Amino acid sequence: MSERPRLTVLSGPSGVGKSTVVAHMRKEHPEVWLSVSATTRRPRPGEKHGVHYFFVTDEEMDKLIANGELLEWAEFAGNRYGTPRAAVLERLEAGEPVLLEIDLQGARQVRESMADAQLVFLAPPSWEELVRRLTGRGTEAPEVIERRLDAAKVELAAEPEFDLTLVNTSVEDVARELLALVDVV
Ligand code: ADP
Ligand code: 5GP
Repeated sequence: MSERPRLTVLSGPSGVGKSTVVAHMRKEHPEVWLSVSATTRRPRPGEKHGVHYFFVTDEEMDKLIANGELLEWAEFAGNRYGTPRAAVLERLEAGEPVLLEIDLQGARQVRESMADAQLVFLAPPSWEELVRRLTGRGTEAPEVIERRLDAAKVELAAEPEFDLTLVNTSVEDVARELLALVDVV
């Protein structure tokens, strides 16, 4: 029997390198489909609407939630984020693998609603290195970094809930491992 394409969730603390790893993988394998989330967060420099996120207002997010248009959603460090349901289901029905890059609360919701999803945790080599990366990215104000580091402690403690862990020491190595897990043919 051929295996059904699966939904893969990539989670891990803010600043661990999720976006970097996924971007590296998709540069060489653009066929890997990544869900574009809706968020109430403001765009960072260089982020494009419809590419990195759908940047929405609070009212628009309220509506997406009320209309059941999100597969999962969560509040993270003062903003709301959610996965548009229809696009994900279309891909899965078309037989294509799906990758979600979402936070711990979202990963838990996906585990509840899609039993065969595979949950991958991206871990930092050390706490100090996580702080260095998050600070070094230079995209958040100090108080936002503090909120994200508070959330990171909770996320790191939840690692055993995941099916497997990849440690982000080398972007190239992790991108290769993730590609194998997503199982793109
Ligand atoms: P996330 O998407 O998990 O919040 P990012 O992909 O934005 O994290 O990465 C946070 C910072 O860490 C970025 O400045 C990125 O260049 C850097 N980074 C990512 N992976 C590595 C790595 N393996 N080694 C060193 N720096 C990394
Ligand atoms: P950032 O603001 O750094 O882009 O993302 C903050 C956190 O929100 C990250 O952990 C990221 O994975 C998560 N995130 C992004 N999109 C979604 C989503 O659609 N749902 C959930 N639950 N989390 C998301």
